[in-house]
Amino acid sequence: MSNFEEFEIDSRLMEPQETEEDGETELSLRPHALSEYIGQKRVKDNLSVYIEAAKQRKDVLDHVLLYGPPGLGKTTLSNIIANEMNVNIRVTSGPALEKPGDLVALLTNMGERDILFIDEIHRMSRAVEEHLYPAMEDYEIDIIIGKGPAARSFRMKLPKFTLIGATTRAGQLSTPLRDRFGVLLKLELYSPEELYEIVKRSAGIMGYEITRDGAMKIAECSRGTPRIANRLLKRVRDFAQIKGTGVIDKEIATFALEQLEIDHLGLDNVDRRMLETIIKLYNGGPVGLETLAVTVGEEAVTIEDVYEPYLVRIGFIARTSRGRCATRLAYDHLGIRFPTPTPAPGAAQTGLFDEE
Ligand code: ADP
Repeated sequence: MSNFEEFEIDSRLMEPQETEEDGETELSLRPHALSEYIGQKRVKDNLSVYIEAAKQRKDVLDHVLLYGPPGLGKTTLSNIIANEMNVNIRVTSGPALEKPGDLVALLTNMGERDILFIDEIHRMSRAVEEHLYPAMEDYEIDIIIGKGPAARSFRMKLPKFTLIGATTRAGQLSTPLRDRFGVLLKLELYSPEELYEIVKRSAGIMGYEITRDGAMKIAECSRGTPRIANRLLKRVRDFAQIKGTGVIDKEIATFALEQLEIDHLGLDNVDRRMLETIIKLYNGGPVGLETLAVTVGEEAVTIEDVYEPYLVRIGFIARTSRGRCATRLAYDHLGIRFPTPTPAPGAAQTGLFDEE
């Protein structure tokens, strides 16, 4: 097998976006109630208040915007909200809503208090977005009949509904759209302890035997992301079945992760290449996102949404106004000596790791 092929396999394994293989198991692993949803305590606490209050008033839940990196549970949470509110949910995505008519068709078929979930809402077209404004604000939508000069537009009343938007990049949402959400909730990367709970729960549902240490090992390598935790669990299970005793313990988990070239912090080839690029080619940074993307051979958005959040969270990359810098922790992790900074003569050392 060529290096290139190996790299392809690893990078898909650690991608937080949903892949075809995840599809079916994700459905069975999704928690259905807020009480089953692990972690994100603040989000859960606040949501349960909003849900209870809306239910008591027999009113519709305010529009909710969920944002955070992929694989953290935004779709799961939206379905839970629908369950807890006892309403139906219609699911679509920004790119799927090609024209305003697509939105009209969805909204006019909703029941009172139902939920419309729009994934990747930042990728919605401008025309669709503008139709969404009166729908969100006054539960009305403009319908255009006919074409050209003979076209007529009229406003139609809609049932009171809740829009749940999910995005990996809240910053890309236009201000008028963002302002129309009453509830903004940011999902954070999960702690290893929370991921441990998720791994144990998923193993239980799938009927795998797993030890405490085995689950913890997988949790520590899952980059703060439940989707990755569930995926690693399945791969480690394969190794346990073929190379071990069938039980997922620490030993087989360690062996499997080594085979998959995932290190003890959950870093894969792409992460290591990115850190090495910053350190070796750019003397530790700062290096601009676009330059880094070209050198590493990844899209800038992928680096920003997929790789960087975890590397920032574990303190390996610092984002500065002038670009990305590798921190001392990253040097240590890769076994490269951290250079002692030499300030320019007469100039005070300006922070190497200035915040943006
Ligand atoms: P997103 O929409 O943010 O990309 P998903 O909602 O599709 O993420 O979640 C990915 C998978 O991770 C789901 O199948 C679910 O099993 C699991 N998951 C996510 N969040 C949690 C959680 N808090 N507790 C348990 N499992 C979770």
